[in-house]
Amino acid sequence: MKEDVFDVIVIGGGPAGMMASGRAAEMGAGVLLLEKNPDLGRKLLLTGKGRSNITRAEFNPKEMVKKYGKEGDFLLYPLSVFGPKETIEFFENMGLGVKVERGKRIFPESDSALDVLRVLIEYLKKGKVEVMTKAEVREIISSGNRIEKVVLKDSRKVTAKNYVICTGGKSYPVTGSTGQGYLWLEKLGHTVTKLRPALVPLKIKENWPKAAQGLSLKNVELTVFQNNKKKDSRFGEMLFTHFGVSGPIVLDLSRGIAELLEKGEVKLVLDLKPALNFETLDKRVKSDFSKYSNKLFKNSLDDLLPQKMIPVMIDLSLINPEKRVNGITKEERQKLVKLLKGLEMQVSGLLGFENAIVTSGGVSLKEIDAKTMKSKIIENLFLAGEIINLHGPTGGYNLQQSWSTGHLAGESAAKL
Ligand SMILES: Cc1cc2nc3c(=O)[nH]c(=O)nc-3n(C[C@H](O)[C@H](O)[C@H](O)COP(=O)(O)OP(=O)(O)OC[C@H]3O[C@@H](n4cnc5c(N)ncnc54)[C@H](O)[C@@H]3O)c2cc1C
Repeated sequence: MKEDVFDVIVIGGGPAGMMASGRAAEMGAGVLLLEKNPDLGRKLLLTGKGRSNITRAEFNPKEMVKKYGKEGDFLLYPLSVFGPKETIEFFENMGLGVKVERGKRIFPESDSALDVLRVLIEYLKKGKVEVMTKAEVREIISSGNRIEKVVLKDSRKVTAKNYVICTGGKSYPVTGSTGQGYLWLEKLGHTVTKLRPALVPLKIKENWPKAAQGLSLKNVELTVFQNNKKKDSRFGEMLFTHFGVSGPIVLDLSRGIAELLEKGEVKLVLDLKPALNFETLDKRVKSDFSKYSNKLFKNSLDDLLPQKMIPVMIDLSLINPEKRVNGITKEERQKLVKLLKGLEMQVSGLLGFENAIVTSGGVSLKEIDAKTMKSKIIENLFLAGEIINLHGPTGGYNLQQSWSTGHLAGESAAKL
């Protein structure tokens, strides 16, 4: 280490910590970045299935914040300073072109999360940020309302004027995000709201999803019910797995479902043909049935359903698969249509933090100044990224949260 006292120490070398370090250095600060893994950005490399959905083509902060739930307004200022437009410019100026895909999702042109990491490492180098890997922070020593120093696992101590904590959430702990930061922050007097796995697949009581495992469905509608009351719903893509359901619309619904499960049972109703109402779908099935009137029921559904779904629907319809289509009654046909429009599943639980894309909950936003990301409790502390109580759905919202809050925290820590 070249200096004894740094201007800024950033803890956590994920997207938020790297952005905060680079920005603080760009502002002229001497910065030390501490990361416990042997390398930076382990989780970043997993994002977007290795392609990294870095942000969204959504340039109105007021529209964007709506997607982060009731905490969203906090992000108005950070997004207005360093939002998707600035994020795209940042990566493009560093030589990484981007492209917009379906649903306004933005990826690097190279389809490589590694290239995103390379840009951030280059940004750190440009600012002469001192990066210490295999540097696990064990303890934070404070005196009154100031942090005095940081103690590493091997007992080394490092000191700075200002500190930025970006240790992420508790999800995918194999990547290093084990939630240690929450414990230090509670000790320092911060409130950490209830932590739950979010954007997480769901376990289903019924066995049939297992039979369809691996099947991905597009353009379906999934609705959440509790006590027969509709609670939420999403249209889009989902996936059957050996334990239940996953995929974008399931992950997005999981936040609300986690809360509902604490109150009681939760039912999902899947509409396989949301573009057609009951009558239109019935006509369609009727026309298929007249086309295939001499076939066996089990061989008559190819036009209607993906292969893996056919045995499942045959089973659930209780119509004899060996029955000739021309022998199927109107009641039986309408029961099948009802199933196509309303396949019920009982949620038995969520997978845990190991499989959650993000953590819901975190450091209370009431205790952070949104204009600077400065703690309202500790004078020389700044926070950014997933550690704060703010997360969005899938689609680039969470990395954007890290870029925006990281940039602002780094800039403020260098200035204040
Ligand atoms: C599989 C998967 C796919 C995802 N895909 C996307 C996507 O495409 N788009 C999107 O917007 N979001 C995506 N996300 C979410 C996104 O990765 C996170 O929101 C983001 O990584 C949070 O950044 P962060 O810097 O706050 O925390 P993290 O990325 O969790 O980084 C925190 C860092 O702090 C380090 N650390 C922790 N404790 C200590 C300690 N005691 N001492 C030193 N260092 C420590 C950790 O090792 C880690 O490197 C995905 C998440 C997962 C799991």
